[in-house]
Order: sequence, then structure tokens, then C-alpha cells
Amino acid sequence: MQARLVCFALVFFLLIPAPAAGRNDVPRDVDKFLASLEGKCGKLGWTDLGLRGIQWERHRVTRGRNPLVFCRFGGAKGDCVLFLGGVHGDELPSVYLLLRLAGYLRDNPALFRDKCIVIAPLVNPDGFLCRTPTRVNANGIDINRNFPTRDWHADALRKWKSKGNGNRRYYPGRKPGSEQETLFQIALIKRFKPAKILSVHSPLGFYDFDGPTSDLDSFEKWLDGISRETDHPLKKFGYFPGSLGNYAGHERNVFTLTLELPSSDPVKGAEFFRKFQPAFLKFLDLKISGR
Ligand SMILES: [Zn+2]
Repeated sequence: MQARLVCFALVFFLLIPAPAAGRNDVPRDVDKFLASLEGKCGKLGWTDLGLRGIQWERHRVTRGRNPLVFCRFGGAKGDCVLFLGGVHGDELPSVYLLLRLAGYLRDNPALFRDKCIVIAPLVNPDGFLCRTPTRVNANGIDINRNFPTRDWHADALRKWKSKGNGNRRYYPGRKPGSEQETLFQIALIKRFKPAKILSVHSPLGFYDFDGPTSDLDSFEKWLDGISRETDHPLKKFGYFPGSLGNYAGHERNVFTLTLELPSSDPVKGAEFFRKFQPAFLKFLDLKISGR
């Protein structure tokens, strides 16, 4: 009888599915990742970020076994806007800004009721979570030189060696689209078909724009206003083989705005959020004609 009970208990135990989720039904790898991220944010002095109340989705895993996460606000079809941060893991405040933006949107649902907003605040978690953060990913590749642009095979490695003096910080990889972090961004672009992309970097200190030339005048006027309002210069920096500006802006006609913050100092995170939050909100409302 006892043996039968043990057997029954064993079968019952085996039939119960193993818990696949951690706290609040967050997938276990995302839960673990959020714990590492919270630890890192704490070390950087970013104690005002509430990462747990945000519905994170994941797509792909990095070489360092970190999930690539994003969150989505609003269910509108079309006119999607995509925010990207932490593409270069050592550009610390870019991650803070987009984590803060995600929290701000979560707390202000009226801002996204009729919109579709996707935020991937940390595209290169392996670089960011390193003890000493790195620009490149765990394979030593610059994610912003790894997009499969039409000029990649002819120019990416050649220009990296000649113009970039083979600086390892800008290494484009041996072939385009080789990195999980690049494929993650491509998947977000294909899935959400954003009309606008805002990618946050540092520390060059300007706005840059790549995109269709048909609306350029009206957009440049808009950007000029934003530049004056936020007291942040506008500069045409151009694009590179394998860069997002080239892949999305130049080749796919998606309005791609790069915000280069003036410093990579993590202490500046909150100050930069205050400074650029109006630009983020105006970017959400910017109408793209023909879309
Ligand atoms: Zn950068």
C-alpha cells in the first residue's frame, strides 16, 4: 500500500510541469537577466529604475547567454516607432535613458493609447554587463558595423582597415549579419516595420539623421526645432558600411534619428533623461507623410 502511495506521489510529481517562469510569470532567463541588470544598474548609481513592472519580451540569446529583450506599448497597427539603446555596451547613459523611458510610458498609458512603441534598451548586453563595459559584443564585433548593407562586402573590412586603422572597437566582423544582436535589430525592424527609429549613443554630442530624401526638408525643419529646444547640435555624420543608418535609413527609407549624448558618464543618466525626454515625446508625435 505504502509502495503504491509512493508510486502515486511520484507519478503526480512527474505530471506537474516544472515551473517555467520566475517572479510574476517572467520567463526564467529573462528573470535572471533582469537580476543581473538590476545589479549593474545599482553599481552605476541608477536606483530609480523599476524594471520589474515592465512586460519584457525576448528574441534570441547572445554569446554570453543574455536574452535580447524589448518591450512594446500600444497596439496600434502601423506608424510604429522603435527606440534602440546600448548598441555599444560602453555608452552607459543610453541604456539608462531608454529604461527610464520604458518606465515613464508604463506609468503614462495615455501617451501610447493610439500608438505602437517598441523599446530595446540594451541591444548589446554582453558589452554592457562586463566588469569594464565594452563597445563591441562578446565576439569583439561592433554591432553598428555588422548590418547586411549592400556595400558591406565591398567596403566594410576595407574601410575598417584603411580609414579606421583596424581599430578593434569598430571591427565589423567577418561577414554581415553574423551577430545575434544584429539579427535581433533586423527582426524588430521586420516585425514592427517602424516608420521611425531613434537610436541613442554617446559621447559625440549631436543629433544625426538618415532617411528618405523626399520628406527631408520638413523633417530637417522639425529636427532644427528640436535641436534648438534641447540645446543640442545637429550634425550630418553620414553612415558606414553595416551601420543602422545605412541599413534602415539609407536602404529602407526609415526615418532613423541618432541621438549622440554628450558623455558616456553614467552619472549623467538622469540629467540627460530630463534634457531629452521632450525630444522623445515629440518624436512619438512626429507625423511621417506618406505613411
Ligand atoms: Zn555608439
